Amino acid sequence: MTTTPPQPPHNPYPAQPGGYGPPPEQFPQYAGQPHEHQGPPPPQAPYGQPFDQGQQFGQPPFQPQFQPQAAPMGALQCRFCGSFPAVPATVRGHMGLLILMRFLKLEGPFCRTCGIASVREMTAKSMWQGWWGIGSAIINPFVMLSNIGPWKKFNELPEPAPGAPGRPMDPGKPLFKRPAVLGLLVPVLVLAAIVIGNLTTTTSSEAKAGDCVKNAGTISKPDVKVVDCGSPDAEYKVLGRVSSSVSSLCDQYEGATVTYTEERRSTGYTLCLGPK
Ligand SMILES: [Zn+2]
Repeated sequence: MTTTPPQPPHNPYPAQPGGYGPPPEQFPQYAGQPHEHQGPPPPQAPYGQPFDQGQQFGQPPFQPQFQPQAAPMGALQCRFCGSFPAVPATVRGHMGLLILMRFLKLEGPFCRTCGIASVREMTAKSMWQGWWGIGSAIINPFVMLSNIGPWKKFNELPEPAPGAPGRPMDPGKPLFKRPAVLGLLVPVLVLAAIVIGNLTTTTSSEAKAGDCVKNAGTISKPDVKVVDCGSPDAEYKVLGRVSSSVSSLCDQYEGATVTYTEERRSTGYTLCLGPK
């Protein structure tokens, strides 16, 4: 291929039906020339290079003398750059938006380069945008794993034949060299936060006089937890604790307005609670 300065990365998302014939400004070998190509360029090699099929870009594709490496009859061509060989595949991504979910889908056929570029881009997107919602966090791993099949297919393809009507996408960096890979830590961190939150919450069975508690459940199905008395969550103060499920024993504690009884098989206890 011709050596060209770095190109702006292609955005793989906009639908590019056909996608043939990129805008001439993408081809800096023509920089300084009018962008309208009225006729075929001189057939000699520009800049002393051997004439490269890549110089085809911008040419009307129907000029047979400049149409080397045309896709064989019936061969699949890449939907994005028109090159071949190409394979049909669907590359997926996922975005979780708390309640909404967005399923991203890019359908081929893809050449090797456009295919790998799409898998990387879509999976990178899922890695950090795919977790935000309970449903999404469950779905996202499957969406990302579903790209492994297409990715293998693309890797088995040879490089696109030169002379494609369009320019293949920029595959960019491998996934594990992109910052998006840090998004894989999101579910790990959320799980860790839940586990730590549960481990550090003290249940009512350890409550003693002087502690403060909150009811994380409802009145009919209470879930009493010990909380810091200074925290805004604190609802009641434990005035006393009796090792019995007889709540009337709380009468001995002045100011006890609420009782919380937990019954076990043989033992039980009652917390006598007053206003904080
Ligand atoms: Zn392509």
